[in-house]
Amino acid sequence: MAAIDGLPPLREVIQRHGLDAKKSLGQNFLLDLNLTQKIARTAGPLDDCTVIEVGPGPGGLTRAILSLGAKRVIAIERDARALPALQEISDHYPGRLTVIEGDALKVDFEALVPAGEPVRIIANLPYNVGTQLLVNWLLPKAWPPFYRSLTLMFQREVGLRIVAQEDDDHYGRLGVLAGWRTQARLAFDVPPQAFVPAPKVTSSVVHLEPIEHPLPCAAQALERVTQAAFGQRRKMLRQSLKPLGGEVLLAKVGIDPQRRAETLSVQEFVTLANAI
Ligand code: SAM
Repeated sequence: MAAIDGLPPLREVIQRHGLDAKKSLGQNFLLDLNLTQKIARTAGPLDDCTVIEVGPGPGGLTRAILSLGAKRVIAIERDARALPALQEISDHYPGRLTVIEGDALKVDFEALVPAGEPVRIIANLPYNVGTQLLVNWLLPKAWPPFYRSLTLMFQREVGLRIVAQEDDDHYGRLGVLAGWRTQARLAFDVPPQAFVPAPKVTSSVVHLEPIEHPLPCAAQALERVTQAAFGQRRKMLRQSLKPLGGEVLLAKVGIDPQRRAETLSVQEFVTLANAI
């Protein structure tokens, strides 16, 4: 029986194309099209957008994005075995899906879409690749960036770190970088049994939208301060920030040297970054 979008059920697609999940590529597939539509809807209206999807695999999320009316989808997939399955989706939605075979960490995303065209990025990725891509998307020199939003699946633990604010155990470098330039929220959790094969832990969908005018600061300086401060998160700032000026730096910006990294707001981190 065909699925709600008229294409064959994903379980059959996976079987027919021999897409046994590869651990080395972090493959945990979503087969429930209601769930993939819920993820795609979290991204916001898609009909005027080009969606860049990273890691489409057998195409569950890709199908949801297309069925919700995305003008165009550009999908980047590392596993060549998935290409014939994705070609079937492309045939079903003529002219709307372009698949690029390759490693998303090596792709120049901005160059994929003509300047000025609205872009949303949606991905269910292995979490280490996802975290690296997120940091790359958060730290371009020019801001606002080329995309309108990022809707990404992470291990729940990583999701909590992205949306964390000061005085939260999960607060760290990711929370500061995301909080500086975006409005980030944890949209909903996805239990392990929603995936095939099931991972060990719960996942979360995180949605981020760029702030148009974040506090002025050099990304590189903010990286240096957060790395030093959270590298020794249990230590007082006068100790952890010693390589960047320690007590002198803290006195210059009026921050108590006895405080610890996790108590500083994003604004205070920006002040520190601007002072080094
Ligand atoms: N989007 C599909 C879904 O939701 O069912 C698949 C998700 S699976 C967690 C991750 C996908 O990312 C796999 O298809 C895997 O081959 C692909 N992938 C892993 N590393 C990648 C990379 N560096 N660049 C592009 N795709 C990658």
